[in-house]
Amino acid sequence: MCGIVGYIGNKQATPIVIDGLKRLEYRGYDSAGIAVHNIGEPIKFLKNAGRVAKLETEVNKNVPLGTVAIGHTRWATHGAPNDINAHPHKDCTGKIHLVHNGIIENYVSLKNELDQAGHKFSSDTDTEVLAHLIESLFRGTLEDAVAQALSRVRGTYALAVISEGDPAKIVAARNSSPLLIGIGEGECLLASDPSAVIAATKKVVFLEDGEMATLTPEGFRIKDLGGDELLKRLVEIPWTLEEAEKSGHAHFMHKEIFEGPEVVANTMRGRIMVDEGLVKFGGLENYAKHLANTERLILTGMGTAYHAALIGEYLFEEIAEIPTEVEYAAEFRYRHPILDNHNKATLIAVSQSGETADTLAAVREAKRRNVFTMGIVNVVGSSVARETDAGIYNHAGPEIAVASTKAFLSQITVLTMASIFLGRMRNLEITRAKELLAELVALPDKMSRILEQEQVFIDLANWLKDAEHVFFLGRKYNFPIALEGALKLKEVSYLHAEGYNAAEMKHGPIALIEPSFPTIAIVPQDSVYEKTISNLEEIKARGGPIVAIATEGDERILKVADAAIFIPKTLEPILPVLTTIPLHLLAYHTAVARGCDVDKPRNLAKSVTVE
Ligand code: GLU
Repeated sequence: MCGIVGYIGNKQATPIVIDGLKRLEYRGYDSAGIAVHNIGEPIKFLKNAGRVAKLETEVNKNVPLGTVAIGHTRWATHGAPNDINAHPHKDCTGKIHLVHNGIIENYVSLKNELDQAGHKFSSDTDTEVLAHLIESLFRGTLEDAVAQALSRVRGTYALAVISEGDPAKIVAARNSSPLLIGIGEGECLLASDPSAVIAATKKVVFLEDGEMATLTPEGFRIKDLGGDELLKRLVEIPWTLEEAEKSGHAHFMHKEIFEGPEVVANTMRGRIMVDEGLVKFGGLENYAKHLANTERLILTGMGTAYHAALIGEYLFEEIAEIPTEVEYAAEFRYRHPILDNHNKATLIAVSQSGETADTLAAVREAKRRNVFTMGIVNVVGSSVARETDAGIYNHAGPEIAVASTKAFLSQITVLTMASIFLGRMRNLEITRAKELLAELVALPDKMSRILEQEQVFIDLANWLKDAEHVFFLGRKYNFPIALEGALKLKEVSYLHAEGYNAAEMKHGPIALIEPSFPTIAIVPQDSVYEKTISNLEEIKARGGPIVAIATEGDERILKVADAAIFIPKTLEPILPVLTTIPLHLLAYHTAVARGCDVDKPRNLAKSVTVE
């Protein structure tokens, strides 16, 4: 998720790795660390929560000498962001050090096993099990031990390992988290993205999933996990440093929209058992009894997270059959909420950063009144995560663009999974649960199919950019998506946009409709399709141009709408994950067409930490 840098060669490694870590800072992180090996001496390491600058200050007090080093910026997934959980992690002997990006899904069972074999753990991370597992399998050749260890691991990783017992090499491996090798003169570098090596070399080799590399000053060898040697193509990176940070995307917002399929897959990873019709959340395991007895849910958040919560209301009522209400966090506290039977209620706070001041205040108010609180949060160890009784992490990775896109998708994915989780404790039938889960698993591919149509959005944006006002309409599950579409367009393109329930239009807003006032209508073939079409007819009759987000194969839609963007079919409760993507892309391209500062829109902050 965050950053790895490695160096082996004929120069002093520490300054090169620290410099590489600085270049990865843009990816977002909470801690940093480095391990340096001067061959023949013990490996030295330094790590801390906080900035790379802090690490650099510590390092500069007594720069560790050595021509081999691995460095890391951590974005915590397991264990709070503190000094001890920062990477590198080491084995019991202190002879093996490693850095890791990703998640080891089966770390609990591996940890129990290693615990019983006498290994001593010092951190709360999933990563540390890897160091001990490699230690237990080490017989003199680091590659062999790493390969054997990885054959026992389930999860995602970009990994770099060094060892005193088999020195003068870095062993690296990849599964789902990015990693590349930079090839210089008498040196090899390792990094999560090209920006960290580009100052030294533009020649790189990208590792693919299931590949393991050994780096030495002379060069590198790549094998698959079965031990077969692979021939890899050297790539010349044509990007400038700035382009490299964004992996070639023009903006972080664009990069993050395109990360959507991977993010949704990461959010589900290890949590879904389609064949059993079950969802499992590590963070809720101890609270099953309370959750099974919950009779009322209160969802709360602000901005985009509030829109996710609104979708949650539909999901929890339909799938889990629990009465649910949604409240702006800022209102919850001041509105005198009635919480009489509080022992049967649960407040769910949704916040990407986990630092949203209004949402945190709502959590505190609920706790003061003895209501059980749960967080749906992206940033591990953040205030909402710490202060709630239980929670689910989004695993969306750091989001850099101010306007939230991928985090929103992960929030609605978590809410969908949570509704199935709670539903299965109640009346949700296993066959329906299996159906929903199978559709969830199919989402990343379907999302990619929408992203492939990018040119359509560019053309539409070129038309939309000259509008003064835009309506976004939807019903049922897609009503909150209409609100989100309008918010996103406002945030990044500064066009005036409003989201409405399509049926509400005729109760007033329709007075605004005229040929220069476009409507973006979310009208997939769901249970309210016919009704929404009627609402759109009313707009058409008044000369308002309509762009529809519709289901593939819907031949009727172009009789009402002037243009349509087609999305793949899925089950109604899962539609929001698909219908969101066109709206995010449309907002993005409209902002670009209008020359706006897409990643840092005026007047906005990424996390709003004041009430
Ligand atoms: N899961 C690991 C941890 O929490 C690695 C996180 C990362 O990718 O930075 O320490």
